[in-house]
Amino acid sequence: MLEPVKELTKYDYTGQPQKSSAGRGESTGAGLESEESAKTLVEMIGLVEKLAVESDLEDNALLKLLDYLDGQPKAAAVRAHLIEKAHQKRMEIYGNRVFLRGLIEVSNFCKRNCVYCGIRAGNPKADRYRLTADQVLESCRIGYDLGYRTFVMQGGEDPLHTDDFLTALIREIRERFPDCAITLSLGERSRESYQALFDAGADRYLLRHESAEVNYYQRFHPGMTLADRKQCLEDLKDIGYQVGAGFMVGLPGQSNQLLVQDLRFLKTLDPHMIGIGPFIPHHETPLSDQTSGCVDKTVVLLAIIRLLIPKVLLPATTALGSLDPSGRELGIRAGANVIMPNLSPMDVRKKYDLYDGKLSTGEEAAESRRNIERRIEDAGFAVDMARGDHPDWRNKNVY
Ligand code: SF4
Repeated sequence: MLEPVKELTKYDYTGQPQKSSAGRGESTGAGLESEESAKTLVEMIGLVEKLAVESDLEDNALLKLLDYLDGQPKAAAVRAHLIEKAHQKRMEIYGNRVFLRGLIEVSNFCKRNCVYCGIRAGNPKADRYRLTADQVLESCRIGYDLGYRTFVMQGGEDPLHTDDFLTALIREIRERFPDCAITLSLGERSRESYQALFDAGADRYLLRHESAEVNYYQRFHPGMTLADRKQCLEDLKDIGYQVGAGFMVGLPGQSNQLLVQDLRFLKTLDPHMIGIGPFIPHHETPLSDQTSGCVDKTVVLLAIIRLLIPKVLLPATTALGSLDPSGRELGIRAGANVIMPNLSPMDVRKKYDLYDGKLSTGEEAAESRRNIERRIEDAGFAVDMARGDHPDWRNKNVY
């Protein structure tokens, strides 16, 4: 169970319980500082409350909250309150269920050069592979027998993943596993292509927007534009997919102002799914010497997103689990409600090498369902193997 939120007035600026001897009349410098801190604390808790009630905050209030939450351990009480509120919100909407999706990494060929990515075209050392249609179908069968009812086909932007190849594969999955959801995460494609894949039977599409600020987006995505990215997301939504957007936390130079822009973009787009995870450098990329993103900050952002867009399906990502053995549980306690264990054929799992230390075995492996289940239960939640559609979408589309 989560710890209950403690009363604000019991904390001083360090987040520790106050000593009751500090009377009102004592006008020492420390006393004034403490009063000021208590006022700020009350203000920050007020912002969390407003976010929880209204599912929104003005940009400058979001910025103020993010800036404050960066100040650990001073911010411990506000952080705990935020996480508790996010937990309550997920319980209202989804209860204690955590959906499991089987992730199939279909190809690590990619024509793009995102500077943080280990399988970028510019990495000659990447050991490339592409699953055949039969291998994907076999992964689905194994996943189906293990109880998975969503398959997430993820890959780089592989030029050999033509519409003909993908539509035939999607039709076959749809025919063999009619009660399963098919999620795609295959990067930018034309609207016609997205439509063809949807018509073949795909239900969902994950395409992180990465950054809502044009120059910052450009810095990490040579040869790509934010306008194209946004157009893809609009097209996907318009076609009728359940759409996922998202970003990495802790990329070099990422300020809280930039994060507020991301949050505002997400609030406006109102996607069905949001994937965020900490940046982790890969040794064969231009960012190899950069510091990883922060688990704590990712967890705070998960909680804010749960309150900002309450019905969203929110994964505790592999990157979170890769950076911290308890990362996934921390994410789930802060409002995340999806986990995507790896269902790819064993011999390719290490090759889908997006960042250093990426997990693909142990509790990251779809075959370890019982272990995953136990860990989720130990954290106070329950596994749900159903398709796990977004509540609004499910009402309109019946299989
Ligand atoms: S992040 Fe995606 S699109 Fe960019 S290089 Fe990696 S696989 Fe390709």
